[in-house]
Amino acid sequence: MIVRFAPSPTGYLHIGNARTALLNALLARRAGGRFILRLDDTDQERSRAEYAAAIREDLAWLGLAPDQEFRQSDRMAAYEAAAQRLRDAGRLYACYETADELERRRKRQLARGLPPVYDRAALKLTDAEKADLEAQGRRPHWRFLLEPGVVTWTDLVRGDSRVESGSLSDPVLIREDGSFLYTLPSVVDDAGMGVTHVVRGEDHVTNTAAQIQIFEALGAAPPLFGHHNLLTTASGEGLSKRLGHLSLRGLRDSGLEPMAVAALAVLVGTAEAVRPVADLDALAALVDLSGISRAPAKFDENELASLNARLLHDMSWADAAPRLAALGLPASEPLWLAVRGNISRLAEVTDWARVIASGPDGTADPGMTDAFRVAAASALPAEPWSTETWKQWTSAIRDQTGAKGKALFMPLRLALTGREHGPELAALLPLIGRAETLRRLGGA
Ligand code: GLU
Repeated sequence: MIVRFAPSPTGYLHIGNARTALLNALLARRAGGRFILRLDDTDQERSRAEYAAAIREDLAWLGLAPDQEFRQSDRMAAYEAAAQRLRDAGRLYACYETADELERRRKRQLARGLPPVYDRAALKLTDAEKADLEAQGRRPHWRFLLEPGVVTWTDLVRGDSRVESGSLSDPVLIREDGSFLYTLPSVVDDAGMGVTHVVRGEDHVTNTAAQIQIFEALGAAPPLFGHHNLLTTASGEGLSKRLGHLSLRGLRDSGLEPMAVAALAVLVGTAEAVRPVADLDALAALVDLSGISRAPAKFDENELASLNARLLHDMSWADAAPRLAALGLPASEPLWLAVRGNISRLAEVTDWARVIASGPDGTADPGMTDAFRVAAASALPAEPWSTETWKQWTSAIRDQTGAKGKALFMPLRLALTGREHGPELAALLPLIGRAETLRRLGGA
């Protein structure tokens, strides 16, 4: 299996792009195949080296390491050669219409109830007419001549697919200024790199019939195609790289876990429930192109936040330690196990570490009587402490004071942490230690 992710470096990747990248990378990972990063940078105006660097960085953040990378701007000679082959075979023809002329023709067709398909008027131009147009300063753009008939493929997501080629305009492959549109370079690269599976967003379904004919015209076997549904915002708008919608770096900077982003990007809008997944191998096992829904998938930031929290709640120390270290956050296994169930972003570990080390921030009154305070201080067991200590301690206080339930626990929680909610005190107590517990009881 050879797959590729082919972003244009014209903006930051968003979560919808991550869906495409992950589906490809995970299929290759599971099959022991190759995952290629192709930078579609033939648009010189809008492509930027910074965006290419950001794409690599964002993929690395998700844990994806392409086996190979190349950019289209290095392969212009291959595209020129393919274009020449198509011209020689009579499949690429020069057209001279201006955008305005085409638009007027389209409107006329629509007014007559006809499909707005290019009428191939340029095919009838004689050499003399072409020479005349060129003498007037017109430069040709070049269209691929579609063959009549039905193009069929078995889409890995959408199943049996068919397009009547007569319903399509012959696609423009080369602009007036000689630059290539995306359609031909993509085919030349997929054929040249031996890509076996093209997995991409369903906004490309309309290119597929023409691309299959181009593969055939170039004497190459078309790959398999799978077109996944697109992600929209919760209100149903499409995501746009240009608008920086839900960019991966924005999600990263807001402190979300890459595995939460990856799990949501891959699982939303599929037959699998969106749920926390520990690592990319486990996520790869859940990829099923045929289970992807045909309807657009809604990306909901609240769903991501809750997925992130659930992922942290179950995260092992082995998985958490490197993440904490990378973010420069305080860490030890007992601290992690004590607080992981009470955080929704990793950085919140810092708050709890501070509470454990220094106690309540404010001066909230824990609501303790002097008798309770004295009983609590005198009942404190000797160290060493374990997670059993809390139970021993509170049983002893209950026996002495008669306090139970909330009246027993809440004053202690407030005295130790200054907060009404938080991690299990059984886990916090050994981290706070005896001397500090005594101080907080006295100081309260
Ligand atoms: N550069 C195209 C895009 O970003 C690639 C499409 C494809 O995968 O063929 O949409």
